[in-house]
Amino acid sequence: MESTARAPGRVNLIGEHTDYNGGLCLPIAIPAGTTAHARPRPDGRYRVSSTMPGAEPWEGSLDDAAPGRIDGWAAYAAGTLWALRELDVAVPALEIAVDADVPPGSGLSSSASLEAAVAVAATVGRVPLDVLVSACRLAENDVVGAPTGGLDQTAVLHARVGHALLVDFANGDEPAISEVAFDPADAGLDLVVIDTRVRHAHADGGYGDRRAECERAAHILQARPLGALTTGELASRDTGAQHLDGVARRRARHVVREVERVRDAVDTLAHHDWAAFGLLMTASHHSLRDDFEVSCDELDVAVDAALAAGALGARMTGGGFGGCAIALVPRDHTPRLRRAISGAFAARTWQRPDFRRGSPAAGARLISGDDQVR
Ligand code: ADP
Ligand code: MG
Repeated sequence: MESTARAPGRVNLIGEHTDYNGGLCLPIAIPAGTTAHARPRPDGRYRVSSTMPGAEPWEGSLDDAAPGRIDGWAAYAAGTLWALRELDVAVPALEIAVDADVPPGSGLSSSASLEAAVAVAATVGRVPLDVLVSACRLAENDVVGAPTGGLDQTAVLHARVGHALLVDFANGDEPAISEVAFDPADAGLDLVVIDTRVRHAHADGGYGDRRAECERAAHILQARPLGALTTGELASRDTGAQHLDGVARRRARHVVREVERVRDAVDTLAHHDWAAFGLLMTASHHSLRDDFEVSCDELDVAVDAALAAGALGARMTGGGFGGCAIALVPRDHTPRLRRAISGAFAARTWQRPDFRRGSPAAGARLISGDDQVR
C-alpha cells in the first residue's frame, strides 16, 4: 500500500547534552519537517531518494544498509529500514521519496525528522511509537555512527501540538515522557528560532568528544548516570582521590546544573512565569558556552543581540557547534530583535541569519495510506 508520512523537526527548549547523561530535557516539535512517500516494489529491493541537493538515490537490499556497509545521507533513511527489521518489524520492499523543509545540520534535527518520516511511512502507522523511536535511534547510532542521545527521535515521534515534552532519560533506552503545556503565543510571546547558518554534522567528532568527557567524569565520580547527581552530591564527590580535572569538572557541572534547570523550567511553566523561564534559558546558554564549550561566536552574538533587544531569554539549541539559537520575546519586540541580530551579523560580514517561529507542533504522523490516519 502507498503511504505518506510527515515528521517534524524539533527545538529543545532547555536540557542540552543531558539525554545521554541520564538527565532531563524539554523539547517541542516545530512546523518544519520531512515528508516521506513510500510505494511498494515488486522486486524485493529498497530505494530511497531525497530532494536535498547532492543526495544521490540509493538502492539495495536491507543487508546492504547494515552498519559499515552504507554511508552518506542514505544511512539515515535506509538505515532506519534496516533497524526496523532488526527490531523484528517486517518491512516490505519499498521505494521511499523524501522532501524536507527543515535545513540539515542546523540543530533542528533534520536527521531524526528524516528517520521518523521514513519509519512511519514504511510501517503505515501500525507500529507503536516506542518501537519506531528505538529503530530511529538504532539507525542514527549504529548505521550512521552519530553518537547522539535519544532526545531527537523521542521528540519528533511523541510530540503534541501546544505542548513540550518533559523527557527523563534516567532509564536510558526507555525514557519516561510527560506532556507540559507550552503556549507562549497565549502570553503574547514569540519563540523565535534563529538559524546562524553555521552548519555542523553530528557524525563528526565534537559531539563524541563531549560524550566521552562526560563518561570520564561519571567514571571518576562513580556516578551512573552523571545526570542523576544533584549539585550538592557533585560538590561532595568531587574531592580527594575522586576529584575531577578542569575539563571533566566543567562538563559535569553543566550536566548536573542543566538537569536542575529543566526541573525549574517546568515549574515556571506551571506558574506561567515566563520571565523566570527566560532567565533559565539564558543560564543554560552561558553554561553551554563556558562549561560545556559547544557554542560558537555566531550563536553567542545571536543570543546577546536577542537579549539586548528585549528577549526574556535566549540560548543555543541542539548539540551546538553552530546551528540555531532560540529567543523568547514579547511579540511587539520581535521585529526589533530580528533587526538587531541581522545587524550584528552584517557588521561582522557573516551570512544573513534566518528566522522562523517555533510554535509547538504535532509529532510524526501518517498523512495518507491507512484507514486509521493518526
Ligand atoms: P541535524 O539533525 O541537526 O539537522 P545532523 O548532522 O544530525 O544535523 O544531520 C544532518 C544530516 O542528515 C545531513 O547531513 C544528511 O545526511 C541527513 N539529512 C537530513 N535531512 C535530509 C534530507 N531531507 N534528505 C537527505 N538527507 C538528509
Ligand atoms: Mg541530528
